[in-house]
Amino acid sequence: MNDRSLLMIPGPIEFEPSVMAAMAVKTPSHVSPEFIEVFGRALTNLRHVFLAPEGQPFVVAGSGTMAMEMAIANCIEPGNHVLVVGTGYFSDRMQRLVEIYGGQATQVKSALGTVPSLAEVEQALQKQTFQAMTITQVDTSTGVRAPVKELAALAKKYNALSIVDGVCSVGAETLHQQAWGVDVALTGSQKALGVPPGLGIMMCSQLAIERWKARTQAVRSMYLDWGQWLPIMKAYENRQPAYFATPPCNLILALDVSLQMLVAEGMEARFSRHQRLADAFRDALYHMNLKLVAADGYQANTLSAVYYPDSTGPALVGAMNRHGIQIAGGLHPEIKQRYFRIGHMGSIHPNDVVACLFALAQSLASVGCPVDTAGLLPRLQSKLTS
Ligand code: PMP
Repeated sequence: MNDRSLLMIPGPIEFEPSVMAAMAVKTPSHVSPEFIEVFGRALTNLRHVFLAPEGQPFVVAGSGTMAMEMAIANCIEPGNHVLVVGTGYFSDRMQRLVEIYGGQATQVKSALGTVPSLAEVEQALQKQTFQAMTITQVDTSTGVRAPVKELAALAKKYNALSIVDGVCSVGAETLHQQAWGVDVALTGSQKALGVPPGLGIMMCSQLAIERWKARTQAVRSMYLDWGQWLPIMKAYENRQPAYFATPPCNLILALDVSLQMLVAEGMEARFSRHQRLADAFRDALYHMNLKLVAADGYQANTLSAVYYPDSTGPALVGAMNRHGIQIAGGLHPEIKQRYFRIGHMGSIHPNDVVACLFALAQSLASVGCPVDTAGLLPRLQSKLTS
């Protein structure tokens, strides 16, 4: 039998067969008219996905971390002050990047599983001038979602650029980049955009580009410099050949197919599908007496981080694997051994949620923690179809 296991880690995710098929072709020249057309269309479609009609898209070979680094390298000058909204492992990574590029980072920390309050963030903004604020929309280490709209409004009020790490959220969690005044939003291809790993993707506001143009010091990187990439992105959108560094052509063919599917689904429909599936998933977890790492009101729709019941532990991940579902262990250093993570984003189907939950019940039983599944199916049915 074919490999029927489901990949339900928080990225990479299951990809659509049509996306995979788009890659399995003879590699086109990056300056051929056919490829230029595809790349140009993908860039334009990204504006629909980020809901940023006047945004400037960038698509560059690399992972989500490369996109984070590109944002910091271009938006931060040595000596700049940056407020990091602390939500876990990936906001710590943002802080480290700010420091590497000579910025002074101040992190407003929050209790595990929560986000700093708007009042705490505003207090920090009142204490000194910050050139930028970083926000991790969904911290994949805890499954916590930050209120980007409200935080970006605070950044604007205090004249700081807002930089949103949307690696685990863009394409699934509500983001109205332009209406919310988010200056830079970034992601990697392998999560809710539904394309194999290898593309760093970002959308910048015109304000972010103006601030970058007004820099007094050169960007301290060649590959990450917007100055290298801006003419290339503009050329592709204008259907002109251009070269700075070779794009991963086959991945861009796949991106084009996936973005067309996102646009056809519609972003609002996509956001609410993720909300509905995540609500149903969480409801079933509570029914099984499982506890989430993210506190109520902060739970992401792209993944769930769940504590192992007392009597089990990381053995559950192996048991799930044997039941055909690949899930991830913990990542946040404070609780790494105490929880697991399940991704539910992208082309996730209600049947995947059902399969995952029943595998979870069987796996829990097999590691000595039977759970009550009576009544689960009708409950799921009403939630998944509501
Ligand atoms: N930020 C967040 C929120 C992430 O979830 C990840 C990946 N898990 C990254 C950044 C880094 O992305 P990558 O692993 O593609 O470098």
